[in-house]
Amino acid sequence: MEAKTEPYLTSHPDANGFFGPYGGSFIPPPLQAQMDEIKTHYLELRQDPQFIAELDEIRRNYQGRPTPLQYAKRLSESIGGGGETGVEIYLKREDLNHTGAHKLNHCMAEVLLAKHLNKRKVIAETGAGQHGVALATAAAYFGLECEIHMGAVDMAKEHPNVTRMKILGAKVVPVTEGLQTLKEAVDSAFGAYMADPVTAMYCIGSVVGPHPFPMMVRNFQQVVGEEAKEQFLERTGTLPDHVVACCGGGSNAMGIFSVFIDSPTVKLHAVEPLGRGPTLGDHAASLASGSEGIMHGFNSIMLQTPPTITSSAPTPAPVHSIASGLDYPSVGPEQAYLRSIGRTETGCGATDEETVQAFFALSRTEGIIPALESAHAIAWAMKVAKDAVERGERTRVLVNVSGRGDKDVEYVVEQYPQLVTVV
Ligand SMILES: *Cc1c(COP(=O)(O)O)cnc(C)c1O
Repeated sequence: MEAKTEPYLTSHPDANGFFGPYGGSFIPPPLQAQMDEIKTHYLELRQDPQFIAELDEIRRNYQGRPTPLQYAKRLSESIGGGGETGVEIYLKREDLNHTGAHKLNHCMAEVLLAKHLNKRKVIAETGAGQHGVALATAAAYFGLECEIHMGAVDMAKEHPNVTRMKILGAKVVPVTEGLQTLKEAVDSAFGAYMADPVTAMYCIGSVVGPHPFPMMVRNFQQVVGEEAKEQFLERTGTLPDHVVACCGGGSNAMGIFSVFIDSPTVKLHAVEPLGRGPTLGDHAASLASGSEGIMHGFNSIMLQTPPTITSSAPTPAPVHSIASGLDYPSVGPEQAYLRSIGRTETGCGATDEETVQAFFALSRTEGIIPALESAHAIAWAMKVAKDAVERGERTRVLVNVSGRGDKDVEYVVEQYPQLVTVV
């Protein structure tokens, strides 16, 4: 009898949350007990028809799903594709999901889970504020308290998101320790959670953190891939040749990749922020330049500062990206795993400069102002499509437009005034 290969998604991660060597759970025992509770209930609820129906109803009638799949005709033509060439770029429009990004997909599901666990409150950290806003939205919808920990430096920088969280009824806790940014916010939020683990649930904002979060968040984001695959097949009669998504923690990428992993003809591209250049501290390309290490409760590939004479323990390196949603010194364990087995492509990245070019390209050919995070994916997709045109190959590229760019317009106008002016 022929050996049956198990579909990838049902066999990954393993029972302990490992994707090959990556993932797992490296946290203190009291926190582990909480993660085990979340996992047990999640594994039950994901089979529960009532939970599934509730989530489905929310996605349709609150979030506005399914989001459209759009053939980007003018963008394709702008790189020499379209028409006879058969080189086509398609956009999965997560910018049209409620709140303007994909993050709400897992936040609604996480807070629904919290409600089923009889929690009264959700706690999280946020860097630029995008996760905080999505979680505050979900908490308002379900009527749970929401407490967001945010570095004081980030609060000043990302003031509009602080205002949004407050309007939505969330309590924003300023963190004034250390550098007053994301790392300190994580510590502060963990501390608050440990003080109140029975009534509160910790909600992670990407496919990172200890098991079961990388698995759960991927599964909650899978709706993007399921919709996109069905829409793509309906439209073209085939699967895409390439699927492209930007990669910070890796949640929007895992969402759209997940349903194509078992289809070997589909090339998967997780596009990393190459920032200002290859020097450590100038980018956040963890997959391309990182090494194995444990941070925030999981084992993965991370950007680390080399050990010194006084400190042998590697620590997360400073990172930079024009897109604040991508400047994380590590990456979800499943992204690390897929890269290590060669299932995702290597060398996928976009510099700040290329990203801003793509931001304007999509705005002016399609009338879509993308988030700077998503503009990384657009930049890479244009490159993949252009290469195909040059080789005379018919190619279809599917890109996840993870979010809209309203939050970024002021920054772009300040930093790139010469690109804004039409002459
Ligand atoms: C947060 C964010 C990202 C990066 O997160 P992933 O987990 O890598 O998807 C990408 N795009 C947008 C619009 C975001 O807000």
